[in-house]
Amino acid sequence: MIKKISLLGSTGSIGCNVLKIVRRFPGRFQVVGLAAGSNITLLRDQVEAFNPQIISVADEEPARQLSKSLGRQWRGKIAWGRQGNIEVATHQEADTVVSAIVGGAGLIPTYAAIEAGKNIALANKETLVMAGDLVMKAVKRHKVELLPIDSEHNAVFQALAAGRRDDVNKIILTASGGPFRQQKLADLWQITPEQALAHPNWSMGRKISIDSATMINKGLEIIEAKWLFDIPVEDIEVLIHPQSIVHSMVEFRDGSVIAQMGIPDMQTAIAYALSYPERLKTVLPRLNLGRCGDLQFSTPDFANFPGLKLAYQVCKKGGTLPAIFNAANEIAVEAFLAEKIRFPEISLVVAETVSRLMSREPTDIKMILEADLAGRVQAESIVTAFAMKKSLKWGKEIACPEIPPAAGVDLAPTGEK
Ligand code: NAD
Ligand code: MG
Repeated sequence: MIKKISLLGSTGSIGCNVLKIVRRFPGRFQVVGLAAGSNITLLRDQVEAFNPQIISVADEEPARQLSKSLGRQWRGKIAWGRQGNIEVATHQEADTVVSAIVGGAGLIPTYAAIEAGKNIALANKETLVMAGDLVMKAVKRHKVELLPIDSEHNAVFQALAAGRRDDVNKIILTASGGPFRQQKLADLWQITPEQALAHPNWSMGRKISIDSATMINKGLEIIEAKWLFDIPVEDIEVLIHPQSIVHSMVEFRDGSVIAQMGIPDMQTAIAYALSYPERLKTVLPRLNLGRCGDLQFSTPDFANFPGLKLAYQVCKKGGTLPAIFNAANEIAVEAFLAEKIRFPEISLVVAETVSRLMSREPTDIKMILEADLAGRVQAESIVTAFAMKKSLKWGKEIACPEIPPAAGVDLAPTGEK
């Protein structure tokens, strides 16, 4: 049966890879909805190529421009804004929604899709970071499938098939370590956005590329894994694996470790999430282990990646704290890309925000959105303070943030404590 897809975030890195798979398997997939931000040139091309029934863009003005430029040859509906995302996500023709908007903006349409009974292929990890408990409960309530596109989680999902759930000892998420894996955080004050965006193995959107450099991406992925696989955070380990060949692993109680491997290309994970339990015959280059050299693994140094350690603490504390953590990170990453703060200050802004706000037990999505907003407002004010003190040095003139004692995060670089 043909799978009818609404694709949220169609013009992004994941979105374009999803459309490559759809194009290659026209008899298997049909695009019924596309939602994007502001890249109307690319969206227009996608509309012409895939002829969806509904599309949406972030704002009203680009929606008007698009409507004009598409003219009469296309007869679908153009929506915009948050409501437009929801309309695409819940369109009656769609049976599967690929959630690939970047950031917290992905939560509402993804949640709406679940409530409308759609199966989800999830790239937008922020959805589970912000509202994992509520989202997974909704998945169960509506009896829909939620399959991970994130390569680590897709790998764990595959590895879990090798044994019984009760026999799982731990999950091991691999991380490339990003472009600054071998440098000290204290030496990264002069790093430019271009340097931080240059990921060694994966080609991805801007936000996730910076998240990989701070390893906050892996922090978000720990929280994502906790909800997705219903596993305590203590049983989720992170290993640095610079080659990005082993996408993640599962250790069972008998000591067997099952790994999923492949070339670093998101199309493999996307294809699996879309075709599960079948596997599609893709035309991607094959992994040639004889030629890829040594595979290395090491434990991450929390002192160099304070945001990763903070993510463990935030995950453990739960409530609305992960939503606050995520919101602060989005603000800090934007501020770094706009050159308002320095690279090491990203983790500092996040830690300071988390330490200033109270966590509550969310009973509905509205509470999550309130925490998200509070996190953003708080992080903005910290960014402003940092931007004003740009010349000041880490841990000295800037008072080190008060982290909740449980977090125990040491943010000062060695030698400057
Ligand atoms: P990207 O920046 O390349 O693309 C983001 C997409 O979202 C674009 O189409 C953009 O127009 C759209 N968008 C942004 N704001 C929007 C809004 N308010 N309404 C509608 N559309 C909006 O990002 P990406 O790298 O493709 O990542 C997308 C998601 O997938 C993120 O959550 C990321 O963490 C996750 N992910 C990405 C990769 C990867 O390889 N790129 C891997 C794993 C997980
Ligand atoms: Mg990942």
